[in-house]
Amino acid sequence: MREGNLEAPTRHPLDWKSAAFYDEGKAFEELKRVFDICHGCRPCVNLCTAFPTLFDLVDASSTLEVDGVAKQDYWKVVDQCYLCDTCYMTKCPYVPPHPWNVDFLHLMLRAKAIKFRTGEVGLRDKLLSSTDAMGKLATIPVVARMVNAVNKNGFSRTLLDQTLGVHKDRELPEYASSTFRSSFQESKSVPVKDGKNTPGKVAIFSTCYVNYNEPGMGHDLLAVLAHNEIPYVLVEKEACCGMPKLAREGMRS
Ligand code: SF4
Ligand code: SF4
Repeated sequence: MREGNLEAPTRHPLDWKSAAFYDEGKAFEELKRVFDICHGCRPCVNLCTAFPTLFDLVDASSTLEVDGVAKQDYWKVVDQCYLCDTCYMTKCPYVPPHPWNVDFLHLMLRAKAIKFRTGEVGLRDKLLSSTDAMGKLATIPVVARMVNAVNKNGFSRTLLDQTLGVHKDRELPEYASSTFRSSFQESKSVPVKDGKNTPGKVAIFSTCYVNYNEPGMGHDLLAVLAHNEIPYVLVEKEACCGMPKLAREGMRS
């Protein structure tokens, strides 16, 4: 298999139901194997903070190789990955079907799953990643004003830092007093125009962020759709997609 070819990558399914998937020793072996390949390659250095963390650890080690990095420090790399998949989709020439079989995101996901299973996920991460539950509570009009004020107050931020470990200087998104779903405007009745590559109508999944924090972005989208006479509906039932739970370790920085 040639490196950097133009063939579509093959994504092997995660074997997340097998016991071996959660075997920490085996996972560390695979982390070391892939970290070794990345250390010798390095173009992903500017994609996120996971790669610079890894390369800094290697460069600071006594051997200047991955074998000089303490296993416990591998978690520092895992913590920085927020599972965006850019390394796999756009950069890596060693993704399957290449025999080196580098799927960095899948490996990070496996490590995060092990961490979760061993109970090493704290209250702060559990709370911050429950975006739907937090949003429902924080967007009650009076509560929203209170939460936003608390998040801007130096004393309460210091308290939050000391109790939950949310850094006092970390910018936190404001909560809107009215959610996108509650202020959603129905689509005008316009006929569906079937495009060549699109169905000509839109079902909107607002996402926790737009619904609770930035409803204006959702309304902008509705305005664009209305302007182009594309009919839309808001999906009837919506629940958090779970991404914050998967990526919660990336919230640390
Ligand atoms: S998937 Fe993780 S490691 Fe890869 S670019 Fe995104 S954040 Fe970085
Ligand atoms: S993920 Fe692939 S391209 Fe990125 S540093 Fe590792 S081996 Fe290189």
